[in-house]
This record gives sequence, structure tokens and C-alpha cells, in this order.
Amino acid sequence: SAPGTGKHITILHTNDMHARAVEQSPAMGFAKVAGIVDKYRSENPNTLLLDAGDAVHGTTFATLVRGESIVQVMNEIGYQAMVPGNHEFNYGSERLMELAKMMKFPMLSANVKKKDGTRIFEPYLIKEVDGVKIGIIALTTPETMYKTNPKNVEGLQITDPSTEAKVLVNEIRSKVDVVVVLGHLGQDVSSTDTSFKVVKEVPGIDVFIDGHSHTVLKNGLVSDHGTLIASAGEYTNYVGVIDLWVDGGKVSKKTATLVDETGAKDIKPNGNVAALVSSIQKKQEPILKEEVANTAVLLDGKREQVRAGETNLGDLLADAIRDVSKADIALTNGGGIRASIEKGIVTKGDVITVLPFGNQVVTLDVKGSDVLAALENGVGSYPEPSGGFPQVSGITFKIDAAAAKGSRVHTVMVGDKALDPAATYTLATNDFTAVGGDEYTMFAKYPTTGMYGALDEALINYMQKLGAVDIKTDGRISEGKKA
Ligand code: ATP
Ligand code: ZN
Repeated sequence: SAPGTGKHITILHTNDMHARAVEQSPAMGFAKVAGIVDKYRSENPNTLLLDAGDAVHGTTFATLVRGESIVQVMNEIGYQAMVPGNHEFNYGSERLMELAKMMKFPMLSANVKKKDGTRIFEPYLIKEVDGVKIGIIALTTPETMYKTNPKNVEGLQITDPSTEAKVLVNEIRSKVDVVVVLGHLGQDVSSTDTSFKVVKEVPGIDVFIDGHSHTVLKNGLVSDHGTLIASAGEYTNYVGVIDLWVDGGKVSKKTATLVDETGAKDIKPNGNVAALVSSIQKKQEPILKEEVANTAVLLDGKREQVRAGETNLGDLLADAIRDVSKADIALTNGGGIRASIEKGIVTKGDVITVLPFGNQVVTLDVKGSDVLAALENGVGSYPEPSGGFPQVSGITFKIDAAAAKGSRVHTVMVGDKALDPAATYTLATNDFTAVGGDEYTMFAKYPTTGMYGALDEALINYMQKLGAVDIKTDGRISEGKKA
């Protein structure tokens, strides 16, 4: 379409890259992303590059060095600002501050604050591009408070995005030509704090660059107050391109598009970024390739499976947790299992891919009534998948899917005895659920009675103990009507 009047500014954006460093169709990988950025910069020197969060975690490329590799690559590509998403907190807030220091660009967030109300990042940035002043206000999803290990956000609060945005848009609107919100909020109907809500409640935003829901908006969408919302999917499958024309202190035209692998097929990957990625990979290779076990069957860690029912990998992991801790019961959240393991040789890399959070195995002495409450919490949205779905060991139970939430679990057996609500059981779990993650709030009040090392180590040791792993689901969790 015809350009607008005035100066032409291009804003390139990514979100939810989740450390997809290398090309794996439809993911383009960092070198190709950088090539696309180079092309746009050469065509229009007035180009900015922003990231809307969830970059530093998600594959072994990132987790092995607690995010540092991603920062190195983003520095090389030449990012100019990013907002932390929930996954930026996965290594703890202290580590996040270290990563932010390594960045050659600012980490911004207006609503991540200490309990005393002070911010830990700059809330916004004003960039002057060819005489055009662009205000970039950043917002992080409040869901971070329960989507990462509560320990990772200890001492922090994430305040209402709309409230912060309203104050800051008012503060900068008259000082800038363009107001951009860089948000990791998303557009899921199940979320309270969506980008739609902020755009509706806060006039004066020209462009909202969004992440978190992994939404693909081919041409953005124009929402309340004429705000253009843009979102570039996930995993480096897309680079978002926003074109703005700014005339007399106002945006005269704005458009959004996405570049995918087809659109970028003639664009050359950036050589420096490609070299950096492969040199990091080379260093990691010996660790990842280490052979740690063998499995005769595929171990099922598919998202829709482990979050909605018993799987053989869920059973194996829960058995491993119970084995290392000698607890009566083991329970681990299905959402913490992030991948399957193929039949055959199992490498250290495979295990870290399944369990990337660096979790620990801990025990608690839990009342039977709270064990039941925990199971009810875990199956609260069954048969819909949810991160809290319990994978268990030492305990069996049935789910009545037709019963009301909170009273669906029945026929609960610990070993060969019925669960006694008044008795106390030693329960082993990971340190995420132990402190109330995935709304296992009933666990948070119990002190830790034992620590049994890393969850991934527990799984490796248990697989080695079994020899060839050949595990099928045994029906420890099943569906059935209440009597
Ligand atoms: P996105 O990846 O786009 O941000 P998301 O992370 O918000 O999505 P999910 O992929 O569903 O959403 O991940 C959240 C789930 O991951 C949680 O509900 C929980 O089950 C699991 N999870 C997150 N952090 C941990 C952790 N430290 N230990 C164990 N499980 C975790
Ligand atoms: Zn997210």
C-alpha cells in the first residue's frame, strides 16, 4: 500500500523465541533472524529492534549456561530493548539482574517491582530516531507470579499493567511522537491481564507489541482507540515488521506484517551470528552428548498428554522422585515435563530438555487431607490440560470428570491402604510445587523435611538403576464414576 506522510520508522520485533537458536523449520534460528534485521536496517536506517519476552529459556542452548548464550546472541544481533517475560525469571531474579547487566541494551519493565513499590528495571525508554521521539513502555505478565517457581519472584510484585500504562502514557505522551508498549501479556481469553485489556483501558498507545500467548498476527490488528496490536508467534518462526510514518508529531500511517521462512528464503543468514551460535554449541556438545541411559520405549512427555493424564514418563519421573527420597508418595506437576524422550539411547541433553528448570527434589510431611486437596487441585481442569496435572507414585486414584471441581478425586490408595485424611504422609515433590507453584498452595505451609538433589539427576540415576527402561502406564490414575 501507499506510504504515509512524514518520516518512515521501522520497528522489528520478536517474542517467545524460547531459545530456539538454530534453524529447524518453521523456526528460522538466530542467524536468519539477524539476516532479516540486517536487510531491513540496510533499507531503512530508521529501524529499531525489540523483543517482547521469553527469550532466555527453553532449550539446552540456554539452560546449560543459565541464559547467558541468548544474551550474547541478542547483543550480536543488536537488539535495542526487551521486556522480561515470565520465563526470564526461570533462573531466579538475581540471575535475571545479572543477565540484564550483560545486555548491551536495556531490559525494561514498568510493573515488576519490589514489595516496597520500587522498580527493578527502567519502566520505559525514549529513543530518538531521525528526530522522531519514540517512547517504549514495557509491561510483564502478572501471571509470572505463579507460572515460575515462587522462589524466583520472592520479594517482588507485578502490578496491574493497565494502571502502570495509564500513568506512564500520561507522563510521556506529550514528550514523544510515538507511544509503543512492549508487553509480555498475551491475548489468551483465560488470562486476566491481556494486551486487549490494556489497549481498551489506556488511550494514547500507537502500537502494542505483544508476546506470551504466542499469537500469530499476520497483519496486526487494530483494537480500541485505534491502537495497532502486533505479535510475531513463537520460536523465531517470524520476525514482526511494523512500519510507521510520523508527520508533525503524529503517526500518519501504521502497518504490521510478519516475515516467515518462506518470505525470508532469499535473505542470507548473518555470518557472525551463525559463527557465535555454532561456537557456543560446540562448547556444549560434550555435555549434551553424554549417554546416560537406554529406553526400550518412547517416554511420553507431550504437553497435551502430561498435562491431562498419566503417561509413562510421568510415572517414571514420579517413581524416580519416590525412589531417591524413599517417601510414601511422590507427586510432580505435568507442566514441569517439557518434552518426550525417543526410544533408544538417552543423552544428558535429552534429560535436560525434559527437565529444564533446574528443580530439586524435596520432601514434606503432609496431612492426608492436604494430599487429597493437592490431587483435587491438580485435576481441577481435567480433562482440559493444565500444568498442575499430578504425575504420581506410591498413590493411586480415580477422577470423576463429571463431578464438581474440588470433589472429583476418589478411591485414593496409598500403597495398598485407603488414604487416611487424618494421617501424615511423607510426600516428595519438586521445589516448584513444594512452595505452591501451579496453585499447590496447600504444600506451601509445610516446612521442607529433606532435600534430595537435582530432579534431572534423580531421573538419570533411576533410569540407570532400571537398566533398560521399559515402562508402560499402569493405571495409577484413571477415570471413573464415584460410587
Ligand atoms: P510461554 O512459554 O509462552 O510463556 P507459559 O510458560 O506461560 O507459556 P506454559 O508453557 O504452560 O505457559 O508453562 C507454565 C507451566 O510450566 C506451569 O504451569 C508449570 O506447570 C510449569 N513450570 C514453570 N516453571 C516451572 C518450574 N520451575 N518447575 C516446574 N514446572 C514449572
Ligand atoms: Zn510467556
